Parts: sequence; C-alpha cells; structure tokens
Amino acid sequence: MQYNQRNRDSTYDQGRHEIRASVNFDRKKIRKASLEMALALAREIPEHRVIDDPDVLEGLAGDESHLAPVLPDIAVRVEAAEDVIATLKAAERFSVPVTPRSGGTGKAGGAIPIYGGVVLDTSRMHRILDIDRINLTALVEPGCITGVFQATVEQEGLFFPPDPNSLETCCLGGNVAHNAGGPRAFKYGVTREYVRGLDAVLMGGRMLNVGCNTVKSVAGYDLTRLLTGSEGTLGVFTMLRLALIPKPPEVATLLACFSDEIAASRAVSRIIDLGLVPRVLEFMDEVLVETIRKSGASSVPEGTGALLLAEMDGPSETIVETDVLKFADACEAEQAVEILMARHVGERKALWSARRTLTDAVKARFNHKIAEDIVVPRRRAPELLQGLRDLHLQYGVTFASYGHAGDGNYHVNVLWEDDDWHPEPAVEDVFRLVLNLGGSITGEHGIGIAKKKYLPWEKGNDQIAIQRDLKRVFDPTGLLNPGKIF
Ligand SMILES: Cc1cc2nc3c(=O)[nH]c(=O)nc-3n(C[C@H](O)[C@H](O)[C@H](O)COP(=O)(O)OP(=O)(O)OC[C@H]3O[C@@H](n4cnc5c(N)ncnc54)[C@H](O)[C@@H]3O)c2cc1C
Repeated sequence: MQYNQRNRDSTYDQGRHEIRASVNFDRKKIRKASLEMALALAREIPEHRVIDDPDVLEGLAGDESHLAPVLPDIAVRVEAAEDVIATLKAAERFSVPVTPRSGGTGKAGGAIPIYGGVVLDTSRMHRILDIDRINLTALVEPGCITGVFQATVEQEGLFFPPDPNSLETCCLGGNVAHNAGGPRAFKYGVTREYVRGLDAVLMGGRMLNVGCNTVKSVAGYDLTRLLTGSEGTLGVFTMLRLALIPKPPEVATLLACFSDEIAASRAVSRIIDLGLVPRVLEFMDEVLVETIRKSGASSVPEGTGALLLAEMDGPSETIVETDVLKFADACEAEQAVEILMARHVGERKALWSARRTLTDAVKARFNHKIAEDIVVPRRRAPELLQGLRDLHLQYGVTFASYGHAGDGNYHVNVLWEDDDWHPEPAVEDVFRLVLNLGGSITGEHGIGIAKKKYLPWEKGNDQIAIQRDLKRVFDPTGLLNPGKIF
C-alpha cells in the first residue's frame, strides 16, 4: 500500500509557527493558578457555579471517545455570555487553560481538559430565543440539546436537518464546534450549511459577532465558516443563528436486504445514478447484520449479508411514492433479498431499530472495539470495502463498517478479543487506505486529541502551519483548548 505523504516535501519552517503559549503546562502550577482564578471569579459568578468539588468535576473530565478522562482543577457553569467573558478574562490573567464543553458526547477527546485548568461548561445556556418564520432562522444558545431544538422547530412546521445519532444528548454548541453530520447529510448537508452567524468569546474576553442575518453576504472573510468546526480552539460560542427549512410533510423509510456488501454498494451507485437523493442512505455490512441477528434487536431475512436503510421525503405522497418505486427498482437490479417499507412513525422507528442499537450490540459482542469515522469519495466505496477485507486477512481481526453510504462516510470498526493485541498499526493502515482513495480521516467526529497525530498525513505541513497561524491570531496565548487538533 503506497501512500504519498505530502508533508515529506514541505519547505515550511514549522518551528517558526509554533504557538507561543504563555501557559506553563506544569500541572501543579496550573492547579494553583486555577484555584486563585476561582477565588477571583467567585466575585463575578455565583460561587455554586464555580466548582472545585472532585465528585462534580469527575462528570466533566471525559467524553464519549476511547480516551482516558482528565480531572479539571475547576469547572465554571456559565449561564450567560457575561459569565463566559468573565471566565476567559480571568483565565488569561491567571494563565489557566480553558476547555469548552457542551454535551460531552464528542468522540475525539475535544472536551477533555488534558492539562487540567478550567472546564467551561456551556450546557446551562440552553434557551431558544427566537424562531423567525419569515427569515427561516432561529436564535439559540449553545447548550440547547439538538433533539429538543429539532422537536421545537418541527412544532412550528419547520425543520433543522442536521441529525447526529447522539441528538438526544449532544448540544448545538458542540455540533457547531465539530460541524456535526448525521444520516440526513446526503440530502441536506452538515451543520455548517445551517450556521448563519454566531457570537463567540475569544481568550481574554473579547466578544466577536460573525455572520449575518441575511441569506446572502459576501462582505469580507467568512469567519462563521472558520469558527464552525474549530473544535473549541478559537472561541467559545455563546449564541448561534441557525437556518431552518420548511418541514417536508411526507416521509417513507425503507430497509433493503442484500446478499452481500458489494451488491449493496453497487445499489447505492444505481440509486444515485437514477437521480434520487434519499435524505438518508445508511449501510450496514455482513458482520453487523450478524451482530444485529445475535442481539435479537431486529429480525433480518435469511440470506441477508448487508443492509441499506433509506428515507425519502418530499412535498407530496405521490412524489415520495414515485421515488420509493425507483429506489426499489435499483435495489432489485442488484438482487435485493427483500425490501421493507414503512410510512407511519411507529413502523418507521421499527425499521430504524437495528441501526439505532448497533453501537451497543457491537460492544456486547466483541471484547475490544475502536471506531474510525473515515470518508471516501462515494464512487470509491467498493474499493474501501475490498481494502478492509484485505486488512482483515492481513491482521486476522474483524473489520466491520456501517454508516452514511450516501456521503461515503463509514464508521469502520476494528474489533478484537485478545487483550494483548494493539490496534494502532491496523488503524493506521485504514487511514492509508482512505487517503489513497482520496478520502479524509474524519467525516464527522473531528481531530481533537484522537487523530492529531494523523492530521499532517492528510493536510501536509504547509497547511498545518497556516492553520496554526490562524489559531495564534484568535488565541495568541494558546490557552483555549490547548493540545487539540495540532
Ligand atoms: C452514540 C453517539 C452517536 C454519535 N453520532 C454522531 C453522528 O451521527 N454525527 C456526528 O457528527 N457526531 C456524532 N457523534 C459525536 C458527537 O455527538 C458530536 O461530535 C457532537 O457534535 C458533540 O456535541 P457535544 O455537545 O456533546 O460536544 P462536546 O463533546 O461537549 O464538545 C465537543 C467539542 O466542541 C467544543 N465545544 C463544546 N461546546 C462549545 C462551545 N459552546 N463553544 C465552542 N466550542 C465548544 C469542545 O471544546 C469540544 O472540542 C456521536 C456520539 C455518540 C456518543
């Protein structure tokens, strides 16, 4: 497997572009400074929201990645932009690192305070301040749970499409910080497409209002897009202006069963070639079909070796039905074993049950699991699946893939039983395979700590150096979420 690491040819002097952090990353000093900062801050923020109780801090030490949690020295539970300004002013004054956090469901370690210091918890800033039916926008705080926001706008006949599978527990602030995607991204795009503007507080307490309340604006650099996906390293969001669309009234869910994964991936190409854009097009491979069977979560017809879960939506029943028929034709052309369809909420939920319970079923079946959310150009998905089969033969462990086939975004799970086996070489081979196919090492979960070693593989040192320069413009002291991305 040949991967041409672009960074080898770099002429950039990376040393010059190191962030000159004024923070001393000595844990003892950070602890002392954090406690002094807490005393000073308690004059501006009520004492019960500036926390040093280890039992409470434990709940703010980790996220949903496989990485070990780190106890912060203090946590500040902010309830308004003024609290965030006060915290970031004090952090700069006392040279204390700050890690922003919302729902804590991140999969890349972005909310782990690796140097201790302060966790800035924005989950209490959860108000929906405005839903504008004419502008088709909402003004909302970053701690609002994504699912709550979606349900609220849907009551108004509106729709916020980004739907990470964690939507019952993650927050919009974390979604914007990670530019979260989800099953509906194929048709509707990811979070970035719905961020019109935002308020962010920079280290030191400076407030920045970026974006615009109009559909169009080309005035100056697009800082909204830069801050979206910045993983809490450039600024702390205190307000989000999000775009909405009218809620599509008609939806159908389909589950197509195939004899093997290559047939399923060929069906994906046929579906797209027919001009269909299902709002959801999810793939599950043979190992996962077997896992679903064993878990009893859902019955899968005999002879099924791969699944496609799809949703069609539209303005009328007739339009959706026409799309459903075309979808069925494409699947039948690839000898689908069975195609199930549901129109009503309860039945649609039943078709989703296998997909929704997949992560837990995999965890229950295998001793060890590491999941990577890689993405390849859609056309090259069959080569990805073949490459993973080759890696299975090479390493003798299980590789299982599921995910958003419409986007080419697959959650590749490396699964093994032996406690002494180390997955790193296999995971690195997955990244090499993906980069050789013209893909990316992360489609949704971000870099955080988990993938920072591999970012230069994809971007090369020249681009990393420019990204570091940008970081320094926003955060010259390097105190905001240090140790992440780079
Ligand atoms: C079961 C499960 C399913 C998932 N499915 C998906 C999926 O389908 N698609 C997907 O994209 N992701 C998915 N994820 C990953 C995760 O839910 C998303 O990355 C989500 O966007 C994180 O939001 P959060 O509120 O939990 O953020 P956190 O974990 O709290 O933080 C994530 C990052 O955002 C930063 N941050 C948090 N709040 C702010 C703020 N106010 N200002 C600035 N920066 C901030 C943090 O510093 C950190 O770097 C899943 C996770 C789980 C556990």
